[in-house]
Amino acid sequence: MSSATGIEQYQRESGLTRAARRAARRFAALPGLFTFTVDVEEHGCGSRARAQTGRLLDLLAAAGARGTFFVLDEVVRTDPRLVAAIARRGHEVASHGHTHRPLAAEGAARFRAGMEAARDRLADIAGAAPIGFRAPYFSLTPAATWAPEILTELGFAYSSSVLPAWNPLAGWPGAPRRPFLWPSGLLELPVPVARLGPARLPFLGGMYLRWLPPWRLRGLSARWAAEEAGGALWSYCHPYDLDRGETLVHRADAGALGSLMLWLNRGPTLPRLEGLLHGRRSEPFAARLAELRQAAPAWPA
Ligand SMILES: [Zn+2]
Repeated sequence: MSSATGIEQYQRESGLTRAARRAARRFAALPGLFTFTVDVEEHGCGSRARAQTGRLLDLLAAAGARGTFFVLDEVVRTDPRLVAAIARRGHEVASHGHTHRPLAAEGAARFRAGMEAARDRLADIAGAAPIGFRAPYFSLTPAATWAPEILTELGFAYSSSVLPAWNPLAGWPGAPRRPFLWPSGLLELPVPVARLGPARLPFLGGMYLRWLPPWRLRGLSARWAAEEAGGALWSYCHPYDLDRGETLVHRADAGALGSLMLWLNRGPTLPRLEGLLHGRRSEPFAARLAELRQAAPAWPA
């Protein structure tokens, strides 16, 4: 018979840890359908993404959920078995680019050549050509509006690369907050943001999901539901957001304070993601595409 204590048994029956149950209440205002997305990339030196991606795959399996994994070409090249495992477990495999540089720094010519090769490599391993793309740092900004046309030519159907808010690295405060169609026909799925005073925060992702206090998550969830409900809801995280064993890595792109913030406070990620999945369905973008396209206006109009 079971040797579990009463508390352990209760937690197993309820299926959630106490932290995850608390987190689930913060997100209660959000709609019942979203897309759980992961940007699969290495953070510092060494290969740590595989173990943490495995934890995310287990989390999704336990929730009976499917998501979209945007895999950086570096990971596709160095760990093809990981990419195959993601596909085998029923998730959509999409591209996080051929290199982790902002699009504007990369330029159109290198982007086209690099993405063509990255697409073919991904297709070989995952068994189907990717139709989704996410720019490193959400760097589809006014300085990189050449990218949608190239992506369309390469067979991509959608992008989730625009952050419609101010951000120190990349951001496009004037961009639409709801899905829209680029002139090439590519569907754009902007990062969900909620208003906080004069700012807008991508509260369901990365550092924001890790650092925002619980009461703030609750408030931003309620505000998104009230003001942005016509948008496409999705979350994002990286393998390193869960990695509590990594040593501090100085990242030139993040600065000293940014590197410290990227390193600290990784504990809340998993229960918060678990809370988000609780009572909510996650479907890959590829499975929601027809519905999302239908409501998307052309932009610029
Ligand atoms: Zn990234």
